[in-house]
Amino acid sequence: MPQDAHATGSADPAEVYDVIVAGAGFSGLFLLHRLRSAGFKVLVIESGGGVGGTWYWNRYPGARCDVESVDYSFSFDEGLQQEWVWTERYAGQAEIRRYLDHVADRFDLRRDIRLNTRVDAAHFRSDTADWLVHTSDGATLISRFCIMATGPLSSIKPPDFEGLADFAGQWYHSARWPQEGVDFTGKRVAVIGTGSTGVQIIPTVAKLAEHVTVLQRTPNYSIPARNRPMSKEELDEVKATYADRRVRARMAASGVPNPPVLEPGEGVPEDEKRAHFERGWAIGGVVGILRAYSDIITSTEVNESLARFVRDKIADTVHDPVTAEKLTPRDYPLGAKRLCVDSNYFETYNRPNVTLIDVNADPIVRITPRGIQTATGHIDVDIIVFAIGFDAITGAVKEIDIRGREGLTIQDHWREGPKAHLGLAVNGFPNMFLMTGPGSPAVLGNVVTFLEQQVEMIATILEMVRSDGARTIEAEQEAENTWAAHVQEIASQTLFMKGKSWFIGANIEGKPVGFLPYAGGLVRYHAECEAMVEAGLRGFSLTK
Ligand code: NAP
Repeated sequence: MPQDAHATGSADPAEVYDVIVAGAGFSGLFLLHRLRSAGFKVLVIESGGGVGGTWYWNRYPGARCDVESVDYSFSFDEGLQQEWVWTERYAGQAEIRRYLDHVADRFDLRRDIRLNTRVDAAHFRSDTADWLVHTSDGATLISRFCIMATGPLSSIKPPDFEGLADFAGQWYHSARWPQEGVDFTGKRVAVIGTGSTGVQIIPTVAKLAEHVTVLQRTPNYSIPARNRPMSKEELDEVKATYADRRVRARMAASGVPNPPVLEPGEGVPEDEKRAHFERGWAIGGVVGILRAYSDIITSTEVNESLARFVRDKIADTVHDPVTAEKLTPRDYPLGAKRLCVDSNYFETYNRPNVTLIDVNADPIVRITPRGIQTATGHIDVDIIVFAIGFDAITGAVKEIDIRGREGLTIQDHWREGPKAHLGLAVNGFPNMFLMTGPGSPAVLGNVVTFLEQQVEMIATILEMVRSDGARTIEAEQEAENTWAAHVQEIASQTLFMKGKSWFIGANIEGKPVGFLPYAGGLVRYHAECEAMVEAGLRGFSLTK
């Protein structure tokens, strides 16, 4: 067993829990409510100064959800969904935070949440069949179960540009935005990164700054959100049929209820497909476009039709043909990198105060005290915004010193690539569960619908373990391997593998490449989970 500095630590008797949850985002909040209601003694530990997880940290200008608010919300409580008033079709970051604060208050969650505290380490003790949890405030806690609700997109990719330490201006990572905000008025700003985050930041900052220089490595497909205020009538109508809407969300692969029927597009005449895409473009959002046909992400023909349609929209929107061409994705299928949803993204490049640099043609050489040196010149800037993404799905789990049976570390266990039985549990790590872990579908749809399903599943498993009187539950190696192979097999039937994205770990140097989420959709995933439960926790071994 490796040297364990904390192994002898003993906990205050009051600090013994049934379940410790790392993270107080959507997942952690619902886990706390669900498991506490089931009679477990639960503590949630959160590094942020408030609840909200990704919505606590990502407070950059323009931060907004791209799933419709009425769907991107908890369904577990009828009173909650009836009383909350969403003001826009797509909620902004501040509104989602207010919602999650309301959830925390409404269900009296705060008394069991420890803020401003990180889980530094979690070590399993085989003799007592529990976890010793060490936190950043120096506490040592004991818990029978540990649940990592650390978020699929929370471990940031740090900017490692040469010379950054000497930069005399201000710089920010989009997901570590200062509480007090940033004043862009009259400033010269550089934005590096044009994923979902950059696509939201750029139009917002361009309205405030003197000049914005965008440094783009890969152009992205993006579709208009068509955000708008929610009228009272519209919201009333949703609320009157909420129960049905939630059922339809759970019955959809993506966890979003509309539209009810999807037909394949293969073989449909091109002009008919374009007319269909045009209607989706007018509706806006992922609902409008990605789900125009059922085979957009599996058929090269249909995907290319939609990609051509979006490329033509970029050409129509951006006045300068050279800039339009730079913004046009040509060498990967639409959706293989996460599709962006925007408000006036391409239009922003028509502004006189916005410049686009393709860093493939004109690479960043280094950051200087005054700005950014590229191969062809120097860009003077006051502020640099890094919207360069995350070590997705596994990063936040691996940041914690997690040791399972016989001191096995999660880093070692996942060295060749991450594996988890149904994305939920890892062999060698008894009594530990993952939310939105590798091999779970969450990031490929409406994460709130998906995580409610996972919370229910974990709660069901814990209740079964409790009534069985078992001391430990652990994913079997064979089940873990079988699920990991299934995840790759399903991904190989899609076009997802054809983009260099965080979906496959390609954005982080040295990260094993493999499809991280489960592309089989919510319905299929849920059926697999149900079958596991009905077969008496198939793929898990229990000890008494
Ligand atoms: P991302 O999708 O990984 O995009 C990162 C961007 O930074 C890419 O354009 C990437 O270029 C660029 N980049 C990274 N390193 C670079 C370097 N060294 N030099 C130049 N460019 C570099 O990250 P994200 O935009 O933060 O989004 C991550 C995910 O968060 C999204 O896919 C989405 O799931 C979620 N999100 C959702 C919303 C929403 O709901 N509206 C908003 C924001 C984020 P390459 O493509 O060439 O790697």
